[in-house]
Amino acid sequence: MRAKRYSISTLKETPSEAEITSHRLMIRAGLIKKTASGIYSWMPLGLRVLKKIEKIIREEMDTAGAQEVLLPAIQPAELWKESGRWDQYDEGLLLKLKDRHSRDFCFGPTHEEVITDLARTELKSHRQLPINFYQIQTKFRDETRPRFGVLRAREFIMKDAYSFHSDKASLEETYQLMHSVYSKILQRMELDYRPVEADSGSIGGNASTEFHVIAESGEDVIAFSTESDYAANVELAEAIAPPSETENMLEMEKVPTPDAKTIEKVSTLLEIPEEKTIKTLLVKGSETEIVALVLRGDHTLSSVKAEKLSSVASPLRMADPEEIMTALGCQIGYIGPCNLPFPVYVDRSAAAIRNFVGGANEDGYHIRNINWHRDSKIEAIVDLREIKVGDPSPDGKGKIRLKRGIEVGHIFQLGDKYSKSMKANVLNDSGKTTALQMGCYGMGVTRLAGAVIEQNHDESGIIWPHVLAPFEAVIIPINAQKSQKVFDKTEELYAELKDLGCDVILDDRDDVRPGVKFNEWELIGVPHRLVIGEKSLKKNKIEYTHRKKGEALEISKEKAISLIN
Ligand code: ATP
Ligand code: MG
Repeated sequence: MRAKRYSISTLKETPSEAEITSHRLMIRAGLIKKTASGIYSWMPLGLRVLKKIEKIIREEMDTAGAQEVLLPAIQPAELWKESGRWDQYDEGLLLKLKDRHSRDFCFGPTHEEVITDLARTELKSHRQLPINFYQIQTKFRDETRPRFGVLRAREFIMKDAYSFHSDKASLEETYQLMHSVYSKILQRMELDYRPVEADSGSIGGNASTEFHVIAESGEDVIAFSTESDYAANVELAEAIAPPSETENMLEMEKVPTPDAKTIEKVSTLLEIPEEKTIKTLLVKGSETEIVALVLRGDHTLSSVKAEKLSSVASPLRMADPEEIMTALGCQIGYIGPCNLPFPVYVDRSAAAIRNFVGGANEDGYHIRNINWHRDSKIEAIVDLREIKVGDPSPDGKGKIRLKRGIEVGHIFQLGDKYSKSMKANVLNDSGKTTALQMGCYGMGVTRLAGAVIEQNHDESGIIWPHVLAPFEAVIIPINAQKSQKVFDKTEELYAELKDLGCDVILDDRDDVRPGVKFNEWELIGVPHRLVIGEKSLKKNKIEYTHRKKGEALEISKEKAISLIN
């Protein structure tokens, strides 16, 4: 490739809307251009990276025996109505469309319905199973807050795979295989990543693992053990309760707490640690109007855990102040667990304390020395809170540390969730009709490009791992218009590298100064830079710089080629 005929459009200024490094660098390096909010065009340089990501994914999926298909991006509403997700899929994410006959469609945010429809017509016998189909395709999700460039876009490319089985054991086997395929893919991209136990969200089903690229800018928080492989999304990580307190129960006492509507203020005013207070949250119920959730004062509610309670409405919604005033006659800051007219679910850690402080259900008052059972009925003791730093790891080994991650992949065991509702059955080996067991495996192709940059950059720009760089090497001649020798040597090296199969670009632009070219290629992040100039040629040398190491070496052409290889 010659730069003179290639689209290179770097920016000196940092785009104002870009909040994080990868977004800034992708725009500045000219890899992507914004077309609309959360919608991007991929420029030739960026597309080269995307193709390399796709190539690695395809190679590993093919090796694992998965078969590539291409499903439609536009999907008929009927299929989504059959699965029940037309009205249920995460509010607002689904982009609904109508055709000229006013028939309903959506732009696919995911493809469980379409593939299950295909499976119920194509798969008739257990002899065709297991089978795993995958595609690399554009999805659309109308995200509430598209941001971070390609990391949370509205239109993005995903590799999604769906496997079908006659029984759970076979599903488990493919799930484990995909687990190792995902690890292999991320290792080939030289990423620092972790598989993490996760929630299966609106896709549904049982077991699920997310693959996170570790990065400060990540939107998810992951709980790790200091001493084992345990890692789980903080939304879901099991919080272990401390041993139950055994102190003697004291007499309850109502105390005035004017203006103390927060845990912090109550604990300061009454001179007690936050660990000896509780907070009572009122949320909408599914069977009763309201459900009370109780946590220790220093703990935070996990909305994912709360939503898993069948008596809590999903998605989680807090009761509003008027409702609370009507039901209890007090403001939010004074709610407590005694004599509540709703079912009370208590977090394990909150259930373990004695003689604690809670609201009096009366404005301006709290109660000291509340004790469970004696003073407040418990519907159930459940795991409701987010795990925090220093908590014991749920596997019993070590303590919890938190790190941020970018979810680049997510694998699920769906079981028969879609095959049941959409009647995708096969004949098993004893001739009986059974619902297909199903797994699904997503990986964010465009998101991966951003995640790689989050882990590989410096103040000058991107530092691509060799396998993903848009070009592996760039040759920059100095004054080739004036020096025939420079011109000849440059052409010679360019031809030689191309013959070796190296992805090389020759920067033959006459109207760009060498210093500017150096900055541009550093920004774009090409791993090997070769500079050919009169001065070093006199010594029969060229100047070689590795993007990551940064130091310029004067070496022979042969040495440079061997370094690139
Ligand atoms: P998130 O929690 O980040 O919203 P998700 O759990 O909804 O993602 P999945 O349905 O598991 O996503 O989709 C599989 C993969 O698709 C994700 O692991 C991620 O890599 C990618 N992906 C999902 N949403 C987006 C998006 N808005 N922009 C870019 N990639 C995305
Ligand atoms: Mg996910």
